[in-house]
Amino acid sequence: MPESLPLLPTSVIGSYAWPSWLHTALAAAQRGEYGPADMKETQDDAVDMALRDQEDAGVDIVSDGEMRRVGFFTAEFYGHMTGLRELPPQRKVGIVGHDQRESYEVVAPITAPNGLGLLEEYRYARSRTARPLKMPCPGPYTLAGRLKPGTVYKDRMQVAYALAKIINDELKALAAAGANFIQIDEPSYAVHATSPRDFVDLFNATIYGVNAKIGIHLCFGNFVGRPVAKRTYRPLFPDILDVHADQFALEFANRELAELELWQEFPSDKELAAGLVDVKNYYCETPEDVAERIRVALKYVKPEKLSVTPDCGFSQTARWAARAKLRAMVEGTKIVRRELEAV
Ligand SMILES: [Zn+2]
Repeated sequence: MPESLPLLPTSVIGSYAWPSWLHTALAAAQRGEYGPADMKETQDDAVDMALRDQEDAGVDIVSDGEMRRVGFFTAEFYGHMTGLRELPPQRKVGIVGHDQRESYEVVAPITAPNGLGLLEEYRYARSRTARPLKMPCPGPYTLAGRLKPGTVYKDRMQVAYALAKIINDELKALAAAGANFIQIDEPSYAVHATSPRDFVDLFNATIYGVNAKIGIHLCFGNFVGRPVAKRTYRPLFPDILDVHADQFALEFANRELAELELWQEFPSDKELAAGLVDVKNYYCETPEDVAERIRVALKYVKPEKLSVTPDCGFSQTARWAARAKLRAMVEGTKIVRRELEAV
């Protein structure tokens, strides 16, 4: 990462709120009204918008907003893979929830002959902003969660290792193209926290030989703003600290800052990107709210090891709220930076 970053760098987790026109454009595309060139133009514009909102707010390390990823990791990523057969959702009516998402059965060894699309994402975003850029990528265990092993693989972990190889190739290509900060999103570790040692081995295989700063994002689920877990990181500690990642991006705002003390209880050289803005809450934090949360985090984490982020991506947040929250995050961070400089 460039040395020019300020103390307490601000960043995002990855996804950004869709503008209204992207919803209507995708609905039109689903009805067959868009050609590939129309779609590319629309998604390029959406990335420009996401970058612009982050730059306007003053975010230090930006992302492309995952504007090309329809549904975080589902359609986009599985669409790049062969060997999968789509299964209908278990529940189709009623309140929108995780159990309404599609899943797949593995019918042949999984491959991704043309990669996962991250290189294209990176190249476009890199050409559209001068700011440091973070590239998020869903991790293999989380991706494997929607894949039934069928008769091809023994269990979810074996599916995950097949995906880890595909992701590893993609990440190496990404780093070779210039991406210097890659974040692996593995919310499923925090959901199925029973075997952290297995997660560590899988994670380290996934990023093996990737020449970039590596982050790991663990949260408790955010689809339609709903978690899917007990919302505690404790069972993962201390084993999870053996992942070969430089930074942990964890959610705290939505849990009233619970478990920041883990950082003191299990000292390590890892950075913490602390989620201090609640992406699920329509209450928009003030800069002073954010400053207050940063001060609490600083009781457990050294300032040079702390970054400030929202809890998770903004894909499930209204855009006006996402903009307000980003601004408050940046302004609140500036308040604490001034306090630290005054000491
Ligand atoms: Zn998340």
